[in-house]
Amino acid sequence: DAAINRIAAGEVVERPASAVKELVENAIDAGARRISIDIADGGKTLIRVTDDGWGIPQDELPLALSRHATSKIDGSDLLNIHSFGFRGEALPSLGAVGRLTIQSRVSGAEGSELSVSGGRVEPVKPAAINTGTIVTLRDLFFATPARLKFLRTDRAEMQAISDVVKRLAMAEPSVGFTLRDVSGDGEGRVTFRADAVTGDLFDALRGRLGQVMGAEFVDNAIAVDAEREGFRLTGYAGLPTYSRGSAVAQHLFVNGRPVRDKLLIGALRGAYADFLSRDRHPAVALFVDCAPDKVDVNVHPAKSDVRFRDPGLVRGLIVSALRHALADAGH
Ligand code: ADP
Ligand code: MG
Repeated sequence: DAAINRIAAGEVVERPASAVKELVENAIDAGARRISIDIADGGKTLIRVTDDGWGIPQDELPLALSRHATSKIDGSDLLNIHSFGFRGEALPSLGAVGRLTIQSRVSGAEGSELSVSGGRVEPVKPAAINTGTIVTLRDLFFATPARLKFLRTDRAEMQAISDVVKRLAMAEPSVGFTLRDVSGDGEGRVTFRADAVTGDLFDALRGRLGQVMGAEFVDNAIAVDAEREGFRLTGYAGLPTYSRGSAVAQHLFVNGRPVRDKLLIGALRGAYADFLSRDRHPAVALFVDCAPDKVDVNVHPAKSDVRFRDPGLVRGLIVSALRHALADAGH
């Protein structure tokens, strides 16, 4: 019922940035090459994500909005998760906490749209759009004023959205991202843009990290590429001389998902312990990849911690790979 849906929705959607995360992940899962994110008033009045992915067939639109409906997993296979989405919770949750419209078109068919507001679903209508999907979420939390009160200033919410978009962009160099602030009248203002970069893994990653973290980071970072018992660690690790006074520039990913995880942060600290005092933090963008059954990313829908089957192995890989890389770079 509506109340239970709203409570469950609050678990998934804490703030505008969590809605943006879910929508951009869906766009990535749909094979999008370009993703545009338009935001007004810190996401409180408008979040719109436009992608050129494969779209949703008209007859599947209502299904996309029903709880626990996902096209990405067959239920028997909860440990074998390759795409971001796997719960089928995001869209129904967003439809419960805001005014949601999904417009979508698959190649070779007419476009269609479906709206839901406060949990009430309208009939499907035709929509004139390009192949892909446009999800528009207006008036987030209009039905739950208590939650609205806990949101921060538009500026702070926009900052959180920008952080989410940048992290997702780091993991997907071949996808182009544009984040626009469309508050008020006019065309809006591009606040972040990263065009698609190509090349081999390290070239593409270097290009994308330059766009997101800045040229100074990539000029002061070393490539890391190591493997141990089915775990691969790749990415760039900042030189100790390029350390920071806070952990803001620590970007960690597990199987392509941005995570903040105690084990991984601890491993980083261990790797740099000989080079940095406790109040200095390395800048890194590191990616751990492994078979899906070696890690549980299913801990909490809105949280970004993970649980490895063998934490010691992952820690050992990170510490030794980074120490070697730093030693090779003359540290
Ligand atoms: P999940 O991502 O966990 O499957 P969601 O509620 O986020 O659940 O989405 C439900 C379903 O709607 C997805 O499984 C997918 O089939 C479809 N969908 C959502 N967003 C998009 C999109 N941008 N492009 C194509 N299909 C989408
Ligand atoms: Mg999803």
